[in-house]
Amino acid sequence: YGDPNQKIDYVFKVVLIGDSAVGKSQILARFARNEFSLDSKATIGVEFQTRTLVIEHKSVKAQIWDTAGQERAVTSAYYRGAVGAMLVYDISKRQTFDHIPRWLEELRGHADKNIVIILIGNKSDLENQRAVSTEDAKEFAQKEGLFFLETSALEATNVEVAFLTVLNEIFNIVN
Ligand code: GDP
Ligand code: MG
Repeated sequence: YGDPNQKIDYVFKVVLIGDSAVGKSQILARFARNEFSLDSKATIGVEFQTRTLVIEHKSVKAQIWDTAGQERAVTSAYYRGAVGAMLVYDISKRQTFDHIPRWLEELRGHADKNIVIILIGNKSDLENQRAVSTEDAKEFAQKEGLFFLETSALEATNVEVAFLTVLNEIFNIVN
C-alpha cells in the first residue's frame, strides 16, 4: 500500500458522509488498510487516512476524511478542498437512506460544484435484512447525477471499486 519515498503527482481529498453507524469508518479502514472490525469506535480524533495508488502512470494520494463519530457536527472545514464525496447509507436501515437528500443538500451547500459524488449502499452482506431496494437507490442516484454502488466493508465487496470510480473520475476531470 504505497512506498513512502514515492513522488506524488496529485492529492485528492475525498470526504465520507452519511448517518452514524452506516459503516463509513469501516469502509475507510477496508480501503486504507484492508482491515475490518465488528466493533469500531477507534476513529476518534483521526481526521483522515491516505492511500497512494497509480492512475495512468501518475501517483495519486487519496486523502480520505472520516467524520470520526461527529456526524452531527460536520463543519465547512470538513468539506473544504474536497474533490470527491462518498454518501453512505445502510441497506438494512431505511432511515439512513431517507436522510440522503439532506446529506446531499449539505454537501452541495458546502462543497465545490464540480465535486464527484458516489452514493453507497453499504452492508450488502445483510441481504436478508434489506430495507432499501437497489432499484430505488439507482433511480435516486440517476436523478441526482451520482455514481452508485452497493458495498460490503465486511466482505470487502465493491469497496475498492467505489474508491476507484471516484478517483478515476476526479483524475479525468483534472487531466
Ligand atoms: P460509521 O459510524 O458510519 O463510521 O460506522 P462504522 O464503520 O463504525 O460501522 C458501524 C457498525 O457497522 C460497526 O459495528 C461495523 O462493524 C458495522 N459494519 C460496517 N460495515 C459493515 C458491513 O459492510 N456489513 C456489516 N454487516 N456490518 C458492517
Ligand atoms: Mg465512524
